[in-house]
Amino acid sequence: MIISKQKPFEEVLEFLKDKEKIFITGCSLCATSCMTGGEKQIAEMKEKLEKEGKTVTGSVILDPSCHKLQVRSTLKKQKAALGEADAVLCMACGDGTQTVANFAKVPVYPANDTLFIGEVERIGHYSEACRACGECELGWTAGICPITRCAKSLLNGPCGGAKDGKCEINSENDCAWILIYNRLKEMGKLDTLLEMKAPKDYSKSANPKKLVVGK
Ligand code: SF4
Ligand code: SF4
Repeated sequence: MIISKQKPFEEVLEFLKDKEKIFITGCSLCATSCMTGGEKQIAEMKEKLEKEGKTVTGSVILDPSCHKLQVRSTLKKQKAALGEADAVLCMACGDGTQTVANFAKVPVYPANDTLFIGEVERIGHYSEACRACGECELGWTAGICPITRCAKSLLNGPCGGAKDGKCEINSENDCAWILIYNRLKEMGKLDTLLEMKAPKDYSKSANPKKLVVGK
């Protein structure tokens, strides 16, 4: 899931300082799960904008905001309310916001900051799990990502700095390499670590990436 958090309202207001009529979009998937772009957050945003003297011409939850075809077709149905607006406020991730910006005739502003690809541990608690490195290492690391969960992204860890099982860079985090070692040990696969890994090919994570499937 793409994890996002709402921007401070003052920052949103700064974007909209010269705008009076706002159309709001949300997202049915990640932003709804992160409580940054679901029905409740859109209603709250509408109320706050109206208190600031803005008019909200309409709103829609895109299903999802990163699906270009869906966004185009949904926004077409909102033509009247969108046509009245002089700005769109997008309550989705950065990808969802850019997708909306493809089709809006007025400026589109982000209501959220996009943080990472991660897991929902419980409501309101998220942790980063994958950096989309382009060549997944999980097959030999017992399903624990060394690129994301080790602060130094080591392929041949640990670095030796861990203390009481915690990372030397941020003691709130478990050392990923101790987790990897322990899980491989439980699985009887410690021999996996005997092989020295070659440097990672980071060209596979160069931006922007594209993928065409089925050719
Ligand atoms: S190894 Fe790469 S693709 Fe696999 S989980 Fe880690 S960052 Fe993501
Ligand atoms: S202490 Fe562990 S998680 Fe932290 S940088 Fe070193 S090997 Fe990586």
